[in-house]
Amino acid sequence: MPSAPATPAAPPYRGRFAPSPTGPLHFGSLLTALGSWLLARRAGGEWRVRIEDLDPPREVAGAAQAQLRSLHAFGLAPDGEVLRQSARGSVYRAALDRLLAAGDAFICHCSRSGLSAGRGVHHACLPGALRTDPSVRMRVPAGTRIVFDDLLQGRVAQDLHAEVGDFVLRRADGCWAYQLAVVVDDAAQGITDVVRGADLLDSTPRQIFLQHGLGLPTPRYAHLPLALDADGRKLSKSLAAVPVDDDDPLPALRAAWRALGQAPSAVAAAGTPARLLAAALRTFDPAAIPHRHELSLAASHNTDGTAAP
Ligand code: GLU
Repeated sequence: MPSAPATPAAPPYRGRFAPSPTGPLHFGSLLTALGSWLLARRAGGEWRVRIEDLDPPREVAGAAQAQLRSLHAFGLAPDGEVLRQSARGSVYRAALDRLLAAGDAFICHCSRSGLSAGRGVHHACLPGALRTDPSVRMRVPAGTRIVFDDLLQGRVAQDLHAEVGDFVLRRADGCWAYQLAVVVDDAAQGITDVVRGADLLDSTPRQIFLQHGLGLPTPRYAHLPLALDADGRKLSKSLAAVPVDDDDPLPALRAAWRALGQAPSAVAAAGTPARLLAAALRTFDPAAIPHRHELSLAASHNTDGTAAP
């Protein structure tokens, strides 16, 4: 009997959560962690965690360990090894060298103050003194327009040349830029689905452009609404943000579930994070996630969940 023709397997779903260790896990990052975990698990996929410790001046000692402890306390256990970007300089160097060799990247001696006259957008190097610590930029030719369909935010279009210009890949202080590292690592980890906060929506065209330059696949993108505090300010990993409580994870998990547009009753009876997550997975409805850029936490904390957040 001839065997049935093999149907090409769809690539497995692999999501990730990629916090920067600039402070403890806060409600906004818990929302992203839970949203990306639910979408990955519902698709029967994996969920990876990557520590984006690229920026020593902004890093807070012990924050990465604290974030990982919090994820465990909240029942959000990563699959596989946790990747740390601080250990991956040679991989970023190789990607940068390829872009430099192809003429897609160039060494830049411009200073931020010199570029400020042009709104900080770099289109051509300014004449001036050579620096001992030049940066490296990605060249964005005129007419470069990136369009993609975000699973939550809809179609996004950006004129990358006019709005962003040539962007930094390695900073003057020698640090690797987030844009380069995230593209290299999403590909290296085989990430099929990037689920993260809507504050990164306008970074995505730069990342897609870099994927094209490096010959890497473009994952699907879903940008979750940003959690705002009661005064309408973005929750940041600063001291102003309330740390989520590892010793009492259920209230924050329930609030994050509600903020994702899900029915509170589905998880009301669960008495441990593991039970809550199992119950959440049974009823999780991705279509109920608000398709908005921002979400007021005042609303999602204060309603019983029957009203739209
Ligand atoms: N490391 C970034 C942050 O903590 C997230 C990067 C990403 O998800 O692409 O905001």
